[in-house]
Amino acid sequence: MKKLVVGNWKLHGSRAFNAELIQGLLAADLAATAPRADVAVCPPFVYLGEVVSALSGSAIGVGSQDVSAQAQGAFTGEVAAPMVRELGARYAIVGHSERRSYHGETDQVVADKAKAALAAGLIPIVCVGETLAERESGSTEAVVGRQLKAVIDLLGAQLVDIVVAYEPVWAIGTGKTASPEQAQAVHAFLRAQLVSAQAAAAGVPLLYGGSVKPDNAAQLFAQADINGGLIGGAALKAADFVAIARAA
Ligand code: PEP
Repeated sequence: MKKLVVGNWKLHGSRAFNAELIQGLLAADLAATAPRADVAVCPPFVYLGEVVSALSGSAIGVGSQDVSAQAQGAFTGEVAAPMVRELGARYAIVGHSERRSYHGETDQVVADKAKAALAAGLIPIVCVGETLAERESGSTEAVVGRQLKAVIDLLGAQLVDIVVAYEPVWAIGTGKTASPEQAQAVHAFLRAQLVSAQAAAAGVPLLYGGSVKPDNAAQLFAQADINGGLIGGAALKAADFVAIARAA
């Protein structure tokens, strides 16, 4: 399966910072990587249009870090999936653990957002992952299984059009990476759940996220069910992000 490497810039950036980062990405010319890996970056909403323009004609796509579950209406502060699509984005991250924990997004809300993204022609990157306490109590599969099930139940046949990112919460921004074996085990579980819902969902890309760096990316991406990465901190340094994309 073709790999996918996505950078999540989170709440970072400015026009000057973005321009320098993009210059670094473009200078690396990821066209050579393109046959093996798709690459995308997810800036804050306000920069989406500018980043799409700056990257147009390159091998790097753009996504948003979230979308509203609503297409339009009296929802102050929300950004709808059709707006994101209209700006030229291709992907939308939904259900990032920071959205789930700081903004109270439930499994159902995340599923609704994935559906809204699909309806607008975006590819939702649905994040799932357990906390350290959940892992230590042996409930990793129960937690990620429940998070994924909400999406499976709502999407039906559209399940084949999503991307899933396994991001153990204890590995995000902490410098602690799941070992390739730990990550692979959860990915295999997620793959089995997708396939048992729909055979064609065997082709859903499964990304790993959580302190992926240039020095651990190749080992992670070599696992059978790891089809790429969702990259946070390392996506803010052009050289690191390029090295990770090349590792794919
Ligand atoms: C993320 O936020 O999606 C992430 C994986 O962050 P980091 O790579 O910094 O752990």
